[in-house]
Amino acid sequence: MKLSTKHLLGIKDLLPEDISLILSTAAQFKEVLQRPVKKVPSLRDVTIVNLFYENSTRTRMSFELAEKRLSADVMNFTASSSSAAKGETLLDTVNNILSMKVDMVVMRHSASGAPHFLAQHIPAAIVNAGDGINEHPTQALLDAFSMQEKFGSLKGLKVALIGDILHSRVALSNMYLLKKMGAEITVAGPPTLIPVHLQAALGVNITYNLAEALQWCDVANVLRIQLERQNQPLFSSLREYNLAYGITRKVLDGLKKEIVIMHPGPINRGVELDSDVADGPHSIILQQVENGVAVRMAALYLLAGREN
Ligand code: ASP
Repeated sequence: MKLSTKHLLGIKDLLPEDISLILSTAAQFKEVLQRPVKKVPSLRDVTIVNLFYENSTRTRMSFELAEKRLSADVMNFTASSSSAAKGETLLDTVNNILSMKVDMVVMRHSASGAPHFLAQHIPAAIVNAGDGINEHPTQALLDAFSMQEKFGSLKGLKVALIGDILHSRVALSNMYLLKKMGAEITVAGPPTLIPVHLQAALGVNITYNLAEALQWCDVANVLRIQLERQNQPLFSSLREYNLAYGITRKVLDGLKKEIVIMHPGPINRGVELDSDVADGPHSIILQQVENGVAVRMAALYLLAGREN
């Protein structure tokens, strides 16, 4: 089976069958990752560059490990230590890299749409590793994989996305994916961090009441407050935010049921999530990170295997 697309620019462009194919392929790679020898030759002779114009820990390391586990040749580019800092354009940088015979580009950029722009101008397959406030497709795929692993199916699953929905590419990719796969979504947070058009555009429920969202859901995916993307304050203080929307042990104990807690990282401990919840028995945050490698292996493998 093949993906319907040459690039992985966003979940918005994927068919439900593409998502199912990536998730089932990831399950096979997860099994490979449990073996004593974790490496397979699937992408031997494929050269991949990781082009990171914005900071990253998990995503970058996860892609690099996924590529190495697939036996690809890997190059890493960091904008701050490159000629981009001398004023070279994105297209010039990438064309120079491609002339070294690179097959795939994994790209993170602070501008929404940067990987889409590249995809229109270069022949290599592009994987979006996070573009501005737009999408972070592999994060949504690994979140979906982790939810499916925990609950068996995404269909009918009640997912709450909590916090900075406005600036979160993880939230948007999750909303696209969960809707395509038949889950129910409620977004919760302060009114200033939730675009009101989401309800009509994506069919998600909106609430400004944290307890209501948590009482409703099976799983809460808690998002980081993206202070670096806020030009003006959108709530009075981090302490105020924590008091109204922070998930604490006490908040969870007040629910009439148990829910699963997720977070894409990096966590602002004591702001959106308290440590005893992040590190507690209901958190699957580290499983998400583990699953990220298998999911990225699946995405890279499927994109590389496409005939053009
Ligand atoms: N790591 C995720 C991202 O790059 C989430 C975050 O930064 O808050 O979007």
